[in-house]
Amino acid sequence: MTLTEKILARASGRTHVAPGDNIWVNADVLLTHDVCGPGTIGVFKREFGQAAKVWAKDRIVIIPDHYIFTADSMSNRNVDILREFSREQGLPYFYDVIDDPNGAWQFDAAQGQFKKQYGKNFAGVCHTAMAERGHVRPGEILFGTDSHTCMGGAFNMFATGIGNTDAGFVMGTGKLLVKVPETMRFYLEGALAPGVMAKDVILHVIGMIGFDGATYRAMQYEGPGVASLTIDDRMTIANMAIEAGAKNGIFPADKITFDYVDARIAANGTRKGYTPTEIDADQKFVYDAKVDLSALEPTVAMHPNPGNRALAKELGNVELDRAYVGSCTGGKLSDFLAFAEIVQGHTVKIDTFGVPATPHVVDELKATQWDGKSVWTILEDAGVQMTENASCAACLGGPVDTFGRMNKPLKCISATNRNFPGRMGHKDSQVFLASPYTVAASALTGRITDPREYLAVAA
Ligand code: SF4
Repeated sequence: MTLTEKILARASGRTHVAPGDNIWVNADVLLTHDVCGPGTIGVFKREFGQAAKVWAKDRIVIIPDHYIFTADSMSNRNVDILREFSREQGLPYFYDVIDDPNGAWQFDAAQGQFKKQYGKNFAGVCHTAMAERGHVRPGEILFGTDSHTCMGGAFNMFATGIGNTDAGFVMGTGKLLVKVPETMRFYLEGALAPGVMAKDVILHVIGMIGFDGATYRAMQYEGPGVASLTIDDRMTIANMAIEAGAKNGIFPADKITFDYVDARIAANGTRKGYTPTEIDADQKFVYDAKVDLSALEPTVAMHPNPGNRALAKELGNVELDRAYVGSCTGGKLSDFLAFAEIVQGHTVKIDTFGVPATPHVVDELKATQWDGKSVWTILEDAGVQMTENASCAACLGGPVDTFGRMNKPLKCISATNRNFPGRMGHKDSQVFLASPYTVAASALTGRITDPREYLAVAA
C-alpha cells in the first residue's frame, strides 16, 4: 500500500484498503477557522442538538485567521461565535484573537493595519499555526474546513480539506466516510540549486500535470531528494496539492520530521505519541514521475491558474503593479528570510506587502539580526509594507479594507498559493505565483525577474 492507503487502512481498522474503497475512518484532529467554523458549528448543533457535546474536546482545533483585521462587523462576529462555542464546550485549543474569554472582537481601524491588535493566544494562519502549536503528528488523520489543510501532509499525515457538513459530522462523531484515493508518485532526486525554492518544485509539478491533474488523488513525494528538503519546504509543497486538485499530498517521515514535531509537542504540551507510516515495497501508483530537483529553475504560475507554468527568466516583459509575500504557503520564517536576502540594501520599485503567517514569524523577524539590524527593519528599509497582524490578509481577497487587497485591476506577483481570477480581490486583477526569492527580485525591478540576477548565481 501507499502511504495514504496505509494511514487510511489503519484509521479504518482494516489490514488492507485499495483505491476506490469507501471506508469509515476515525479522525485524529479536526481543524476549523472563522470562515467555516460558524457554519460547522451550525451543522453540528442542528444535527446533534443544541446541548450536544463534541466528540473529543482535545481533538478540535479552532484558529481564527482569515477575515480578522477588518472593520467588517460580520467578520468580527464570526470570531465571537467561535469564542462562545469554545467556552460552552470547554475546548482547550481555541486560539482567540483577544485574551478575554468573555469579550468581543472588534478591529480598531483607527489604529491602522500595521501595529498588532491581537492577544497572547492568537496563532495566525491556521495551517502554519497547526504545525507551530504542536497539532501535527505523523501517521494521523487531520480533517480541516479549509482546502489547504493538505499542508499537514508534510508531516506524514493524511490531511485534507472537508466541507462544513462533513466537519459538523466529524465534530459530533469523530468519524468520516472517505473514498480511498489513487496515488501519484513524485520521486525526487538531487537537491535544489541556489536561487531555487520549494515553491518552484510545486509550481513545476503542477505545471507538469495541470491544475486538475491530480483530482481526487494523493500526491506522494519520496526518493533521495526528500532528505534535502526542510520542513518548511515540505510544507510549501504539500500545501499546494489542492492546486492540482489532489485529495492530499504526503511525505514520508524522517528525522527532520520527528525533530520538528517532537519539539513542538514538547513546547506546547500537546498530545504525545504517534505512529508514523513507512514506505512499503509493494506500492501501486496511477502515475509515477521522477523530478530532478537540481534541474529546476525559478518558476512562475501565470494568471489565471496555478498550472499555467513558465520560467521567471522568460517573463521579463511582464510589468507588475504589486508584490505580496505572505500566507500559509509563503509567509513562514524561511520565506521572509529568503525575501530579505534579496531586498537587503535595495528599495522596492512597486507597492510591496509583507504579511507574516504567524505572530511567531513576526517575533523571529524582529529578533533575527543581520549586520546589527533586525530582518524586520531590513524589510521596512527596503520599502516593504510589513504588518504585524499575522493572518490570511489579501491571500483570499477578503473585505475591502483587508491589508494588501487588490481593489482595482492590478498585476501582482505573489508568494501565495492560488491565482484563479478574483482570488486576491478585484476580479480583473492578475496574480502570478512565485517563490519568495522571485517575488522579492520582481519587487525590486517592477517586472517578473529571475532572482539569480540578485544572488550572483548564473542563470
Ligand atoms: S493564507 Fe491563504 S491559502 Fe492559507 S489558509 Fe489563509 S486564505 Fe487559505
